[in-house]
Amino acid sequence: TNQQLAQAEQELAQQLEQDDQGGFVSLVGAGPGDAGLLTLKGLQEIQQADVVLYDALVSKDVLELVRRDADLVFVGKRGKGEQTSQQKINQLLVQYAQQGKRVVRLKGGDPFVFGRGGEELETLKAENIPFAVVPGITAGIGATAYAGIPLTHRDYAQSAIFVTGHRKDQAEQLEWQSLARSQQTLVIYMGTIKAKDIADKLIQFGRAATTPVAIISQGTQLSQQTLIGELQQLAELSEQVPTPALIVIGEVVQLHHQLAWFGEQKQAQKAPHFTIDNLRISQVA
Ligand code: SAH
Repeated sequence: TNQQLAQAEQELAQQLEQDDQGGFVSLVGAGPGDAGLLTLKGLQEIQQADVVLYDALVSKDVLELVRRDADLVFVGKRGKGEQTSQQKINQLLVQYAQQGKRVVRLKGGDPFVFGRGGEELETLKAENIPFAVVPGITAGIGATAYAGIPLTHRDYAQSAIFVTGHRKDQAEQLEWQSLARSQQTLVIYMGTIKAKDIADKLIQFGRAATTPVAIISQGTQLSQQTLIGELQQLAELSEQVPTPALIVIGEVVQLHHQLAWFGEQKQAQKAPHFTIDNLRISQVA
């Protein structure tokens, strides 16, 4: 009946109003640098945001895509190692959301891969703030692709492992025995400072000292550099390039010599280059 319809409409309107007041946080992965690697959904989120809290790892090109009148809040490293504490970031997310804002928490790569995304969501959950997660291309996928290093290959690696060189508690031990196995690719995040340790341990546990390794610095950005060597040279190689840098260990690394394409070949210029001008963004109400 008309009356029921009117009532339903009213309830819906009330619901919408409540939702509007509540604020919302979207945890968005920005990818490893090249803005073309941001997902369409991520782009939509940063175009709709009232406020964007971003890390040092988010590239300038991605920040360019944020809605012009959104507040950009830097919560990464300031100068020499001083960092916004995780507690402070959590607090800011809650505060902005409670003001009813549409908040984007923008992180380099993927927010759930060594990005503390889980910890931030736990805080939001505890405060009853609704959220969504938009995955991003993690450095281990993006930087290796741009360096022409397939993570798996039927002849060289049946598995790939993503591991961090930096652990909350240094006493925590990695499973060196299994990490040292051949026929698998190791992708090590935050590992360059610990490169010597890592190489020593892997060799000690049986990985050949001559296993090919790559250091990919500033992957997918125009400044990308890839250094190739052997496991026993990992420490020297690591010192030669700026951060952020990723370590890749395994037989697949040798494919770089044939498959490197980004910035290394004339044809690379033919690869579609992303600009905001050739992407049409429809307005989402
Ligand atoms: N959430 C991020 C990782 C954060 S940890 C992701 O999914 O990519 C930070 C580490 O990621 C750095 O120490 C480095 O090892 C790696 N990293 C991030 N961006 C990178 C890039 N553009 N090139 C190479 N390594 C990168």
